Amino acid sequence: MGCTAHDVITALRAGAAVVAEHRDELNQLDRAIGDADHGENMDRGFRAVVSKVDTAAPETPGALLKLTATVLISTVGGASGPLYGTAFLRAAAALGDTAELDGAAVAKALQAGMEGVVARGRAVIGDKTMVDALSPAVEAARTAAESGNGPAKVLAAAAEAAHRGVQATEPLVARKGRASYLGERSAGHIDPGARSTALLLSAFADAVRS
Ligand code: ADP
Ligand code: MG
Ligand code: MG
Repeated sequence: MGCTAHDVITALRAGAAVVAEHRDELNQLDRAIGDADHGENMDRGFRAVVSKVDTAAPETPGALLKLTATVLISTVGGASGPLYGTAFLRAAAALGDTAELDGAAVAKALQAGMEGVVARGRAVIGDKTMVDALSPAVEAARTAAESGNGPAKVLAAAAEAAHRGVQATEPLVARKGRASYLGERSAGHIDPGARSTALLLSAFADAVRS
């Protein structure tokens, strides 16, 4: 079964819920290698997304993701706002006005989103950023879609790969963002942006499945 605008709204709500639930955890991860505000930033952003979606729900998945992008860019602040904003904007552009997404469309949107993050932030895999969660997620999504899976399984595969990517950030020395100011001392901690990426993908997967 395809993923409709209704499913995207459900997914965005689930994303907001998971971010709210993990707000303190994300702040704590950011306290270790940044400025302790990642949970706060993401919670502010996704709360705003949900309240915007409540008042003016657009009619296609792409339009919803575009709205999400503009709200995140204007409310999140910090490095993660423009990065997530660009991800949702590129994902929206990749979908155009498709009304119902199959697994391949979801995989394509994820890929476009990651390309947006890379274009904006210039991080490569191993720099200890959200790209370390996104990149394996995109790969897993593509493989799942190529095997003929629908949106729920594609997102579930992406989420699982993202969570493995999060764990892989722990020993890394940060080379981008605020954490890079710490140099070697950034090693031994999980990257907060990678963690929020994996949490969002899990929430999206669960929302689309149910
Ligand atoms: P800030 O660092 O401005 O306080 P946040 O705490 O909200 O912003 O977000 C920090 C996260 O942003 C990091 O954990 C990392 O995943 C991500 N990030 C920072 N810089 C980059 C970059 N250049 N490319 C990709 N992700 C980045
Ligand atoms: Mg921060
Ligand atoms: Mg900050």
